[in-house]
Amino acid sequence: MRTKLVVGNWKLNGSLAGNEALLKAVQAGVSAAKDRICAVCVPYPYLAQVGSLLRGTAIAWGSQDVSRHEKGAFTGEVSGAMVAELGARFAIVGHSERRSMFGETDSIVAEKFAAARKAGLTPIFCVGETLAEREAGVTESVLARQMDALLSKQGAAALEGAVVAYEPVWAIGTGKTATSAQAEEAHAFIRARIAAQDAGVAGRLPILYGGSVKGSNAAELFAMPNVDGGLVGGASLAADDFIAIWRAA
Ligand code: PEP
Repeated sequence: MRTKLVVGNWKLNGSLAGNEALLKAVQAGVSAAKDRICAVCVPYPYLAQVGSLLRGTAIAWGSQDVSRHEKGAFTGEVSGAMVAELGARFAIVGHSERRSMFGETDSIVAEKFAAARKAGLTPIFCVGETLAEREAGVTESVLARQMDALLSKQGAAALEGAVVAYEPVWAIGTGKTATSAQAEEAHAFIRARIAAQDAGVAGRLPILYGGSVKGSNAAELFAMPNVDGGLVGGASLAADDFIAIWRAA
């Protein structure tokens, strides 16, 4: 049995007062579980606040990105060590919004993955195709290219203890969720790609689905054999919906 994860991605949202209210409400509905992890990935400036609110609770926390650099003259960057020092467990890398709006290439994302690992964080490595790519029938080759940027240089062993998130770009923030069959097909493809190098790592790896997950569709998605939970954007900002998704995992 793989661990199930429900991870909130707050994106560019939050305020000191709002974060406290949201996390109090989420905590009321999330209890410690052996086989399930709940986490929130928050903007960098809130990591310290969220850490002090969540330390000792059933909810872990993380960042939404991490620099590929360790230190030095990289104005505006935040290193994995800085994030880890604030008690964070996770770091999202390669979210499609970073790839499409901030020029992150497959190789930059792979470097960020390595930097997060080196800092002792659990990277959540995001992959996914655009609508044009799905319609052109190239979903699998896009996923293969994104995965291979990691697998070819770092090998499948680098994924031990990490997390992959399949996030079809056309489903992120659009209200258009992938069907459970579409999600399962992509997840099975990703797992098989990794299994070709290391079946053990592939079998243990949690692969999350992300893209308009809500309380109302989570159970059907999470029932798929290769779907091990969700990376949740918009719905992670509403405590009731986020708790419902957690319960579905
Ligand atoms: C995300 O930001 O990773 C995401 C999946 O967003 P949403 O749930 O809002 O589609």
